[in-house]
Amino acid sequence: MIYQAANNRYQAMKYNRTGNSGLMLPALSLGLWHNFGGVDSFENSRSMLRRAFDLGITHFDLANNYGPPPGSSEKMLGALMKSDFAPYRDELVISTKAGYYMWEGPYGEWGSKKYLIASLDQSLKRMGLDYVDIFYSHRPDPSTPLAETMAALDLLVKQGKALYVGISNYSPEQSKEAIKMLNDLGTPLLIHQPRYSMFDRWIENGLQDVLLENGVGSIAFCPLEQGLLTNKYLSGIPVNSRAANNHSPFLSEEGITAEKLSKVEHLNSLAKERGQSLAQMALAWVLRHGKVTSALIGASRVSQIEENVKALEQLEFSDEELMLIDEILSK
Ligand code: NDP
Repeated sequence: MIYQAANNRYQAMKYNRTGNSGLMLPALSLGLWHNFGGVDSFENSRSMLRRAFDLGITHFDLANNYGPPPGSSEKMLGALMKSDFAPYRDELVISTKAGYYMWEGPYGEWGSKKYLIASLDQSLKRMGLDYVDIFYSHRPDPSTPLAETMAALDLLVKQGKALYVGISNYSPEQSKEAIKMLNDLGTPLLIHQPRYSMFDRWIENGLQDVLLENGVGSIAFCPLEQGLLTNKYLSGIPVNSRAANNHSPFLSEEGITAEKLSKVEHLNSLAKERGQSLAQMALAWVLRHGKVTSALIGASRVSQIEENVKALEQLEFSDEELMLIDEILSK
């Protein structure tokens, strides 16, 4: 059936300004790292993207290597851009990245100009797009001069292949340098994409300050710790879960320890007292104080997206609740 986006799609979502830029991002964005590859159900991927857009999620985040197989998430999005989302291209923010291994030989990963330019060209072909809204250096490269990586990002903007640029997984010091270089080139850094959740608070030790001081936005990946910060694993490891399928390098059955589960149980009780699910509270927490522009969720089914968007109904925390969360996490 021909897709017609919901008329009320802008009613429930909240949009936040990305740093000092003109670009607004939805408070929740959808990532296509898992469950949108060539091995996954195309119809399920399609339903999730349609529902997300109907709920006001205007930002889809990809990378060259998302799949499996690598590149297949971009291909899937390309097919849907053609069949479903073509009339809505200007209502969507599509991002992709290059940095991790993508093809054989010395030019298929990291941060050289050679790799970044070729990779974005390949991504645009797979997605059938003339440009992406945001192009990221997916990880810092210890061997390539940072100036070369930043100049490649700047060039892609000047060529019209990307509207804005981002960096991901860069340290506070590396980010500071990247910000300065990009400012000098006249292509300000739009956004940083770091991992951030109740279980991984590294950005609070410096990175967040660097970004806020320089008017750079941030989008937090794995805000639900890949599903651990939901009620999913409270009574065992379900067969149809990411941990059981061993798809992720960061989430395995062994990683779900009794210690972590005990924290999850306490957090779950607190979420209940707030009238929220744990997933909703974990997302509200990432967005607290307005320091993070968007929480970048993943999903394996439509119902998860629907539940997660309802986090926006209760974003406020009392000081006491925040203290309680800190206490639970530090146990
Ligand atoms: P999340 O922490 O949001 O985890 C998503 C997973 O949690 C889902 O696949 C699902 O797992 C489970 N889940 C989500 N909502 C619910 C719910 N309401 N109830 C129960 N379970 C739920 O994020 P991801 O790890 O998926 O990462 C999100 C995005 O971040 C990626 O798609 C990618 O775009 C980006 N990313 C960027 C990286 C980088 O280096 N820049 C690295 C990693 C991710 P299940 O499948 O078990 O149902």
